[in-house]
Amino acid sequence: MEQLSVRSYNHTYPILIGKGIRYKLSKFLKGKDYSQLVIITDENVYKHYLNDITDDLNRDFIIKVFTVSPGEQAKSLKVYEEIQKYLLAENIDRSSAVIALGGGVIGDLAGFVASTYMRGISFIQVPTTLLAHDSSIGGKVAINLNSTKNVLGNFYSPDLVLYDTETFLTLSEKELRSGFAEMVKHGYLTKNGLLNRLKLEMNESINPMAKEFDRLLLESIKVKQKIVELDEFESNERKFLNLGHTLGHAIEAIKSYSHGECVMYGLLFCLYVSGVKKGQPQKFLDEDLLNWVFSLKYPLNLITKEDLDLLVNKMANDKKTINQTINFVLLENIGNPYMSSLKPEEIKQYLLDFME
Ligand code: NAD
Ligand code: ZN
Repeated sequence: MEQLSVRSYNHTYPILIGKGIRYKLSKFLKGKDYSQLVIITDENVYKHYLNDITDDLNRDFIIKVFTVSPGEQAKSLKVYEEIQKYLLAENIDRSSAVIALGGGVIGDLAGFVASTYMRGISFIQVPTTLLAHDSSIGGKVAINLNSTKNVLGNFYSPDLVLYDTETFLTLSEKELRSGFAEMVKHGYLTKNGLLNRLKLEMNESINPMAKEFDRLLLESIKVKQKIVELDEFESNERKFLNLGHTLGHAIEAIKSYSHGECVMYGLLFCLYVSGVKKGQPQKFLDEDLLNWVFSLKYPLNLITKEDLDLLVNKMANDKKTINQTINFVLLENIGNPYMSSLKPEEIKQYLLDFME
């Protein structure tokens, strides 16, 4: 089992990573006298993993379960309200804890519920997607308001993150690709050689059962950990975690690719622009990298020239974009990011050149 601790503004919490550790959650909660535990999960995760968790927890705790329909629509005011009413009806008190069992949607939703119910009750993350290595660390929790993402939210750290990588066995290839894009992003934000190890160990496919995988995941989480410990509330360094996301989010808003597929495309674009700015367009984005990304089946034709105006407007939050600049994270070198403000016309030209 791999282990590390994350320091947040009010407490330090452990992250445990390993295969099969979901069966032993109660062991890691020893000494915590939660009056009740409320597991919030979705129907897919329920089917695969609920019993694994409850069989063990039932011996030491009173358990309640609230299940939502899978998908982003669970991060809504309606579902949030249903859960809060349920907690109240079940007499969940201030010394109870919420367990988020699922991917990033469940982590964000359950975390926001926990952070607001009775001004905040304890919260435990049991992530089950690869993407959740990003979402379950750093304390950001939120729901959406209509189509505006993460607009109602909080910074709220869990007591524990228990990450059983065996749960990746039931993830689709598309979901694995989505999460792996964030690992690659983290690889570009550190000088510790993570990127090369990702390329070496996952050279043909993303195999979460590979011997080295948990170690790579830990290294990827450490990149995020270091950044959020420096700047928990995102005034400076935490913005670098948006590498690939300025364009990625805009594509995600208008196309039906997964978050990570859009982020990978956005990342490749930033690597291209970073190279151009240094007078070496292929400095970061060379044939080898493109071949690797292609072999992992990331789509590389997500957008067309006709999408550019809409994308640039999205990046500028749909406001009038004339004279307005848009912030991108670029790289001076691997592990050395910086913020750059680009004008809409510049971005369009870079995109046209990049798409060639
Ligand atoms: P998700 O939670 O919707 O999970 C993706 C799909 O996989 C769902 O259908 C789910 O039911 C299913 N699933 C989950 N675990 C499974 C398993 N082990 N086996 C089979 N199916 C499984 O989505 P996600 O991609 O994990 O997370 C996306 C969300 O994370 C977005 O809402 C995004 O805003 C949020 N996010 C938050 C942060 C943060 O810092 N808080 C960071 C990045 C992303
Ligand atoms: Zn992301």
